[in-house]
Amino acid sequence: MLKHDLSDGVQNKCQICENENLELVIDLGNQPLADKLRPISENVTKETSYPLVQVWCSNCGLNQLNYICPSEVMFGDDYNYKTGVTKELVEYQAAMAAELTHSLGLDNGDLVCDLGSNDGTLLRGFLDQGVQVIGVEPTDIADVANQDGIPTIRMPFGEAAANLVIEKSGKVTLATATNVFAHVQKLGDFLRGLDIVLKDDGWFCFENHYLGSILDRSQYDTIYHEHLRSLSVSALVCLFEQYNFSVLQISQTKRYGGNIRVLVRKGRHNQIDGSVSKLIDSERELGFFKSSTYKNFRENAQDTKIGLIQALIALKKEGKSVAGYSLPARAMTLINYVGIDHDLMPYIVEQPSSLKLNKFVPGTRIPVISNDCLETKKPDYLVVFAWHLKEEILSHLRERGIKGTCIFPLPKVEFVEL
Ligand SMILES: [Zn+2]
Repeated sequence: MLKHDLSDGVQNKCQICENENLELVIDLGNQPLADKLRPISENVTKETSYPLVQVWCSNCGLNQLNYICPSEVMFGDDYNYKTGVTKELVEYQAAMAAELTHSLGLDNGDLVCDLGSNDGTLLRGFLDQGVQVIGVEPTDIADVANQDGIPTIRMPFGEAAANLVIEKSGKVTLATATNVFAHVQKLGDFLRGLDIVLKDDGWFCFENHYLGSILDRSQYDTIYHEHLRSLSVSALVCLFEQYNFSVLQISQTKRYGGNIRVLVRKGRHNQIDGSVSKLIDSERELGFFKSSTYKNFRENAQDTKIGLIQALIALKKEGKSVAGYSLPARAMTLINYVGIDHDLMPYIVEQPSSLKLNKFVPGTRIPVISNDCLETKKPDYLVVFAWHLKEEILSHLRERGIKGTCIFPLPKVEFVEL
């Protein structure tokens, strides 16, 4: 096996530096896959669960799963995530495309390739800027992108896909990946492909959830099987140093409760922005390399778990009606770790355009229904699973005139009257 092409199943060494001294961050038990929702109409007879255990490397600091599910199981044809469904994400990605076009001086002679391009939402933003585009996407959502006029190759990105991109459209000035890089199992194949597909001095810009935000806000719910790694700048520099790439700049964004945007350039470059060393220093200071940091994180997760389940049991005993509000993938980790079932939460509502409607939350018999029903069902309490969007959700519900109390499960259990 080539370097960094991770195998399925139990991992006994660090995914980036191969150190064998891995320590526990949190054991979330055996959990079903977060994006495998089965239709209510289907007779579900069995559901497979996999270990969900996060560990950290004492050498490079990488937080990572110690068990990897096969990619083909996770990203098969019934993958339920479509970028274009979320209005805020469409706007965010359009802004990202505009910023990168201007900061890197891209024009119609440049080609941008999005790796894990989903329905082509980000590439649409680059097209609007007059830049040429091509997508690479392993799931059937590639077909949607192609129908919408975004040329997309349907396969996982790696050396083979890189060669196809070059054959079809030529070499790439900028490759992008949003909320994808932490998911990649054949990491070596991905980076070798990147080296092939990029022009000399070409750019790679990616966004992913940042370990600093996860620790800072007790976001254990960002840990699910698709997220093989929770990235720190220290670990990323360690990774890219092993290839022909330089990490040039890091910025922090609010997306997904705290992302980092990382700008990498092909080749060895010395003009490195101060943001890189600044974050590496702060990671040391904030305890990314200390066992006590992860012990605190684990204990806080346990405290919020107990707080939430006790609150739900008390409300049930009082005869109050409770529903879940919003169902991002992170909700599956929280629901299964806390042990919420359909007795405590008879349904969860999602926006009417969601692909998750009329399906069960994995690991439970909780159905997902359209949030159109809130005005008629009038639940007394709403547990908000997209808690990282607290202010947006509160103002949205208040504008809609929804009454009741919201319960935010993290970073601590909090009740807010509407
Ligand atoms: Zn390591």
